[in-house]
Amino acid sequence: MITQLTIHEAHGLLKSKKLSSMELTKACLKRIKEVEPRLKALVSVTGELALKQAEKADQRIAAGDINPLTGIPVVLKDVLCTKGVRTTCSSRMLENFVPPYDATVVEKLNNCGAVTLGKANMDEFAMGSSTEHSAFFPTHNPWDLDRVPGGSSGGSAVAVASDEGIFALGSDTGGSIRQPAGFCSVVGLKPTYGRVSRYGLVAFASSLDQIGPLTKDVTDCALVMNAIAGFDDRDSTSVPEPTPDYTKCLSTDLKGLKLGVPKEYFVKGMQPEVESAMRAAIAKLEGLGAKVDWNVSLPSTPYALAAYYIIAPSEASANLARYDGVKYGFSYSDADSMWDAMEKTRQFGFGDEVKRRIMLGTYALSAGYYDAYYLKAQKVRTLIRREFDQAFAKYDALVTPTSPTVPFKIGEKTEDPVQMYLSDVCTLPINIAGVPALSIPAGFGDGLPIGMQLIGKPFGEETILKVAYAYEQATEWHKMRAEIK
Ligand code: GLN
Repeated sequence: MITQLTIHEAHGLLKSKKLSSMELTKACLKRIKEVEPRLKALVSVTGELALKQAEKADQRIAAGDINPLTGIPVVLKDVLCTKGVRTTCSSRMLENFVPPYDATVVEKLNNCGAVTLGKANMDEFAMGSSTEHSAFFPTHNPWDLDRVPGGSSGGSAVAVASDEGIFALGSDTGGSIRQPAGFCSVVGLKPTYGRVSRYGLVAFASSLDQIGPLTKDVTDCALVMNAIAGFDDRDSTSVPEPTPDYTKCLSTDLKGLKLGVPKEYFVKGMQPEVESAMRAAIAKLEGLGAKVDWNVSLPSTPYALAAYYIIAPSEASANLARYDGVKYGFSYSDADSMWDAMEKTRQFGFGDEVKRRIMLGTYALSAGYYDAYYLKAQKVRTLIRREFDQAFAKYDALVTPTSPTVPFKIGEKTEDPVQMYLSDVCTLPINIAGVPALSIPAGFGDGLPIGMQLIGKPFGEETILKVAYAYEQATEWHKMRAEIK
């Protein structure tokens, strides 16, 4: 099936004219038609646009103008603004919102000649860990349709794992790229804060949000980073550092590399199959020449979850104030007064989880509680960041599980928000510290995917990509395909 191709494999065929972007795009659209009724990964399919872009890509290729993403079909998380294409954030609030501009990452992919297949389902406004908080429908895990794909970029991860698209973009505020990547057995990278422009990414928690790739292998991840990373003067938090060629660092020799395993990430309640898969994966890295210290300690880790659930909702409560029924999207029209209109717009436009976050954040930022909650959480944030800095003075990268469990059943955690929040314990601290991390397929427990997380220094994407590549070349996990029943 040609939709199973990676970016670099498809690129080879496009370049040698053995395959056209039109054929590849049509194959993806056919695959979407076949499996989408069971998976529900996409909020919108942009078939017409895709065929037009494929035609253009083929013309470009015929003229000898080809780069690694030319003619390659991509799925975009529906939190990324796409000019003329509905961008919903899987919310009633933005159900009919059509942005007048493209996000910087979308513009960059378009300039490369990538082909947009559609917009991926997600937890509403990226708040969640299972894609069940989508206002439209839940998405199903291709490895077991009764289970969640993770979230909030669940639709993006499923689109890649099920070969609906060749790659996808997601966003990650506390784990939303890595956790679904782990749950679906694909590669997902959250770059260093500031590495990729957030311009045109609908904001959840601005000091934590980053856009990143979800791909079938590590080489593809590097290729997508080459296309999307870099300074952008439209995002004041984007960093004016030069971007390397991320494919250059990929090698299978880990000799001399120092890896640390922080013990706090092996949390209570971790499933035994996840723990044993991790131990085996880390032993494999040792076998590849890395020096592993199994006994690293990052003592503030247990406070990361609490700090995150103060900081992220606080920022969300400010960011989501813009949805007032006047400026964007849904507007309740049958109201008695301006206040009534605003209230009802928010009452009907937002789902329960979004309302919960707005309330949490508004409370934490209120005059009487600011010092006790928000300020304290920011202090914890500094401690966590400092511990990572200290660890990176000794180690080149840190290794942990991506999640403490394999994918859970649909409905299992929706009634208990704290249980849902706990599925991100291993990924949240990374956003708090602003460092890069990726998830790579590292085994299965009872037929369900397990991800390994590699954490790097600020702007140390190359090191974690290298470790991931070496591991991938020495294992078969990334080649396994879900049989969608
Ligand atoms: N699951 C976490 C949350 O609900 C992280 C979400 C994300 O990374 N966007 O906030």
